[in-house]
Amino acid sequence: MTHVPLHDRPDLQVPGRWLRPGAPGYDTARRIWNGMHDRRPAFIAPCSSPEEVSEALRYAARTGLEITVRGGGHNVAGTAVADGTLMIDLSPLRTVTVDHAARVAQAGGGCLLADLDAATTPHDLACPAGVVSHTGLGGLTLGGGYGWLARKWGLTCDHLLAAEVVLADGSVVEATEDDHADLLWALRGGGGNFGIVTRFTLRLRPVGPVHYHTGVYPLAAAQDALAAYRDFAPSQPDDLHTVGALKHAGTADWIPAELHGRPALFLTAAWFGDPDDGPAHTARLFDTTGPAATLVRRMPYAELQSLGDHGEPAGHRYFTKSCYPTDLTPETAAAFIAAAQEIPSALSSIDFEYLRGAIEHVPEEDSAFPSRGAPYIFTASSQWTDPQQDTPNIAWPRRSIERLAPMCTGGAYVNYLHDEAPGRVLEVYGTHRHARLAAVKKAYDPANTFRRNQNIPPTPS
Ligand SMILES: Cc1cc2nc3c(=O)[nH]c(=O)nc-3n(C[C@H](O)[C@H](O)[C@H](O)COP(=O)(O)OP(=O)(O)OC[C@H]3O[C@@H](n4cnc5c(N)ncnc54)[C@H](O)[C@@H]3O)c2cc1C
Repeated sequence: MTHVPLHDRPDLQVPGRWLRPGAPGYDTARRIWNGMHDRRPAFIAPCSSPEEVSEALRYAARTGLEITVRGGGHNVAGTAVADGTLMIDLSPLRTVTVDHAARVAQAGGGCLLADLDAATTPHDLACPAGVVSHTGLGGLTLGGGYGWLARKWGLTCDHLLAAEVVLADGSVVEATEDDHADLLWALRGGGGNFGIVTRFTLRLRPVGPVHYHTGVYPLAAAQDALAAYRDFAPSQPDDLHTVGALKHAGTADWIPAELHGRPALFLTAAWFGDPDDGPAHTARLFDTTGPAATLVRRMPYAELQSLGDHGEPAGHRYFTKSCYPTDLTPETAAAFIAAAQEIPSALSSIDFEYLRGAIEHVPEEDSAFPSRGAPYIFTASSQWTDPQQDTPNIAWPRRSIERLAPMCTGGAYVNYLHDEAPGRVLEVYGTHRHARLAAVKKAYDPANTFRRNQNIPPTPS
């Protein structure tokens, strides 16, 4: 039998705005952030309304074509795009409106974090979200959403008040605390399994200038600095967020020349209380850890949100593994430093942050997000450009996180899952939460239409 490519079948008429292979714009639209994923959908359906999303889902149901959903295109595992499928591209859905008095934003399902911040920060408001402004709000919120404000206010999914969702059958519902409350619960951390969110209703928090303090340490001093950080971290007020990274030092003026281009430890503290109180709080960290040099600045919140934008550009190759260490013991710190000594690319880093604060104050029952009590998250992120170097750069995060595994909870952040063994999603959510998510899935997507993701299959009938 002759195989007729789907896009050549005249019986399957598609809207003129959809892109097929060879159409102008197709190659740009199929590209996502991680250059590892060079995939060719059968069609790309740019959607600017829930009706257009419904139309795409109904077409997929009629033809049996599998779908993928693209928010900001930043999922490291590349779930937004797949060969021979229909990519439902939400990137035209980027409108944000802000109700200043109610401290609520309505954000389109294809927004980037930059779109949200651009609309909210002129009101001195923000929704806590991630640390790189070109990340998609959709995937980040549905998987959780760690960021600078997480200890003070909680995760992005904790700020999800309601969502307009297009379900697998093309119908549109509004999930709120009163209506489809089970769906809203699942959207707060259960990923893109339940429907396509075309509008997020998000609670906003007041933000002002941020006191920012960062320090660098030679690798030889990292073990002692991490020991001091371990003592300091649990005593931080929730207004303080501290993060660390082991990576090759850049050539910024404030970094001593002898560290340029060498693996080094960075610790960074950002204070979100009264900025005048910040220096005393951040100095407490740096007085005890003895950095080689520091940089201190007061900056607008919006500037902080884009500080990380240039370090992880679209089109490079990326591979990520993460875990939740139960403590930053000397053994954990040593494994962390050993990983830094083996970094195969000067663009890669192993990052960590101390969590807790408001993240763990949110009642377990309010969301599907697991691992609220984890004290630390570690992420090994490989970044490189040459496909010939894939093997060592994929091996390094795997090896680094495997080495840490005995010191970790066994959980992982669903938004950082990449190339996992079968059953990993079940481990991440735990049996009870996973079963509840599978029941919600059965109610809203019984045929598992939304399966090109960190998948939660419906409870079997
Ligand atoms: C440079 C960079 C920085 C990051 N920083 C952080 C950080 O600070 N904190 C953090 O928590 N995470 C961070 N992440 C991880 C991020 O949360 C995930 O990569 C997330 O999947 C990105 O969402 P996206 O919409 O861009 O992804 P996409 O690749 O577009 O989508 C991923 C999946 O999410 C689902 N999805 C997306 N939008 C929708 C929607 N509107 N409705 C239904 N399903 C949808 C779909 O299943 C889709 O396959 C970062 C990632 C990158 C690449």
